[in-house]
Amino acid sequence: NPKPQFSHNNPHVKVVVRIKPHVKEADCIINKVSSNALRVGDRQFKFDQVFYANSNQEDIFQSVGVPLVRNALAGYNTSILSYGQSGSGKTYTMWGPPSSMAEDPSCLSPQGIVPRIFQMLFSELERERLVSDQKQFSYKCRCSFLEIYDEQIGNLLNPNQKNLEMKDDPKNGLYVENLIEEYVTCYDDVAQILIKALSSRKIGASSLNSNSSRSHIIFTFVIESLCKGNTKGCSSLKASRISLIDLAGLDRDRIDNGSSQCQWENKHIEKSLSQLGNLVDALTDKSQPGEDIPHSNSCFTRLLQESLGENAKLSVICSISSDSKSFDETLCTLRFGEQVR
Ligand code: ADP
Ligand code: MG
Repeated sequence: NPKPQFSHNNPHVKVVVRIKPHVKEADCIINKVSSNALRVGDRQFKFDQVFYANSNQEDIFQSVGVPLVRNALAGYNTSILSYGQSGSGKTYTMWGPPSSMAEDPSCLSPQGIVPRIFQMLFSELERERLVSDQKQFSYKCRCSFLEIYDEQIGNLLNPNQKNLEMKDDPKNGLYVENLIEEYVTCYDDVAQILIKALSSRKIGASSLNSNSSRSHIIFTFVIESLCKGNTKGCSSLKASRISLIDLAGLDRDRIDNGSSQCQWENKHIEKSLSQLGNLVDALTDKSQPGEDIPHSNSCFTRLLQESLGENAKLSVICSISSDSKSFDETLCTLRFGEQVR
C-alpha cells in the first residue's frame, strides 16, 4: 500500500483557527491579517481559514462540517481534531451546549459542529435512499463514544466499561475489544446519545475522571451503505468512518498552582499531545519514504491511525484565546496547527 503523501498544504489535511470572543479588546494579542492569516507579536501564521471572534457556529460548520459530510458520503474516513488550551472553546465548537442539540440549526444557535454534521448526514442519506427507490440503496449506522484518560479507555455510552483494551487484528486493523456500540437510525438517536454522554462526562458520572477537560474523547460513527444492482447488475458495499475528537487541554493555572493530582494529569496530557505532534511530523514531508510512522506509542495515537491513513481526510480546529495571559499557549497552539498543515 502506498504511504499517504502528507506534505504542507496537502489535500488530506485542513487546518482552521478559531479565536474565542474576548471581553477586554485592549488586552487582545491577535492581529487580523486576512481571512486565512493572523499575527501574534512579530510572528505571522497562515492557515486554511481563520475565524475571528465575531464568527458563529454555522460559519465553522460551512467550512469544516459540510466538506466532511460530502467526503464521508464519498467513502473517505474523515476526522475532526479539536486542539487548544483549556478554556479556549474546543468543547463549545465541537458540541455546543447539550440543550441546543435538539434544535434545528440556525446561524444564531450555539449548536456545535457535531450535531450539525449529523443533521446534514441523515438528511443526505435519506434523500439518496428516496431518489434511488428504496430497494436500491440502504444504510446502517453505528457509533461509539470513548474516553481516554491516562492510557485507560472507557466507554462514555456505558459506565460499566472502564478498562477496555485495544487490539490489533491483522485483517481488520485496530479495534477496541468488547466495546459496546450503539446502532442509530436518525438524527434524534444521535442527539440523545450525545446529550446523555456529554452531561454524564461533565459531572463525572460515566467518566474516568471528574474534570471534563482532563481526558481525550472520541466519538466514532460508522456508515455502511449498500447499493444494489447498478447498471452492470452488481452490488457495492461502502463503509466510512467519522471520528470526532475533543482533546484534553493543558491548563496554565493548574500547572502553576495545581495539586499533585493536576500536575500528574498535566504530565500525561502533555505526553500524549507531544506524541500527537510526533505522529503528525512523521506524516508531513519531514519523514523519509519507508520510515515507520510512530502510531504505536500510546492508545491515543494508535486510535488516530485510521484517521491519518490513506483514504482519510483530517480537519484540525485550533482554538485560541486572545488575552495576553494566554500568550505562550496561543503561540504553542498556532505552531502545532502550522506544523500539521
Ligand atoms: P475547552 O473545551 O477548550 O476547555 P470550552 O469549550 O469549555 O473550552 O469553553 C470555555 C467557556 O467559554 C465555556 O463557558 C464556553 O461556553 C465559552 N465559549 C467558548 N467559545 C465560545 C464562543 N465562540 N462563543 C461564546 N462562548 C464561548
Ligand atoms: Mg473541553
